Amino acid sequence: MNKRLFLSPPHMSGNEQKYIDEVFKSNYIAPLGEFVDRFEQKVKEYTSSKNALGVINGTSAIHLALRVAGVGAGDTVLSSSMTFIGSVAPILYQNAKAVFIDSYKDTYNIDLELLEDAMKKESSKALIITHLYGVMCEMDKIVELCKKYNVVLIEDAAEALGSFYKGKSAGSFGDFGIFSFNGNKILTTSGAGMLLCKDEKDHKKALFLSTQAKEPYLHYEHKEIGYNYRLSNVLAAIGVAQMEVLEQRVAKKREIFSWYEKELKDIEEIALQKDNYHSNRWLTALIFEKSNPLKIIEILEKSNIESRPLWKAMHTQELFKDCKFYANGVSEELFSKGLCLPSGTLMTQNDVKRVCNIIKECLDD
Ligand SMILES: *Cc1c(COP(=O)(O)O)cnc(C)c1O
Repeated sequence: MNKRLFLSPPHMSGNEQKYIDEVFKSNYIAPLGEFVDRFEQKVKEYTSSKNALGVINGTSAIHLALRVAGVGAGDTVLSSSMTFIGSVAPILYQNAKAVFIDSYKDTYNIDLELLEDAMKKESSKALIITHLYGVMCEMDKIVELCKKYNVVLIEDAAEALGSFYKGKSAGSFGDFGIFSFNGNKILTTSGAGMLLCKDEKDHKKALFLSTQAKEPYLHYEHKEIGYNYRLSNVLAAIGVAQMEVLEQRVAKKREIFSWYEKELKDIEEIALQKDNYHSNRWLTALIFEKSNPLKIIEILEKSNIESRPLWKAMHTQELFKDCKFYANGVSEELFSKGLCLPSGTLMTQNDVKRVCNIIKECLDD
């Protein structure tokens, strides 16, 4: 059997174990400890951000952002429909109302005309945008719209650590930005998240809420609902080691994308996801105009190659069946035509050729 090609498996730098050993020696097997600070510091430096809060995962970071933004029962939150559930489930945790917005066909990201239309018609507290598969949204315009309509901007950069828009890091545009270090992301600690807050006061509030909302007394005094969302020092040690190789990982992901591009460029029915800025190319994603991606997934699987459909848009999920949607039909089309290809940073050019040869064999005429 050929070796299995996963979508985006973990890829350690070599220093993780050393740092974990340091944690064990110090006996700080706890949330808090030196490595949480160091991990936050590394993310702040990389993204040129003032504040970073290490939490248990990306979903909890979004939840905290909504809480700090004051989103509560009955409030409206706008969001890209084309995203992963972790991006928008926190809207429901807050008993708020999600309103979804469709995408552009080339970048898969939020459509600005539909967004402006929604901002005019909905009185919304916050907007969550996702940089899909690492490709940056049109940030100048989005920031401008949020200012104009007085909407809090939450940037879901879970897939976009290492992506830049006009020289500025993903996650650093919004009032809040979030990253995920889940097992399949460009860097992983097995699980973690990071919340960037523009405003120092918001950062303090998020820290407070993430540590059970303990009032500042020696005893345990509570007035507000809090969470146990703070990151463990052990996982943060892995995060510090992973941050050391971020540039290498981005360069490799981009190279893998370029290999796919080279192999597939002559196939008329295939369009790779477009990037107008500097994507980390977390996953190479594409659409077929004629061939059925489900059939291709099945055939790749027979050769021990993992591939997946693109995200199934949130407005088509049972969970959100009553939500409003600003539509142009694109996200449903992307779901029916699209595919994510293996993009692990240990792949070789021959691995990419192996995937592409199989795809070429099973295209419809
Ligand atoms: C992975 C992901 C999340 C959630 O991150 P977790 O760390 O798994 O909670 C949120 N949004 C997007 C777009 C993601 O890809």
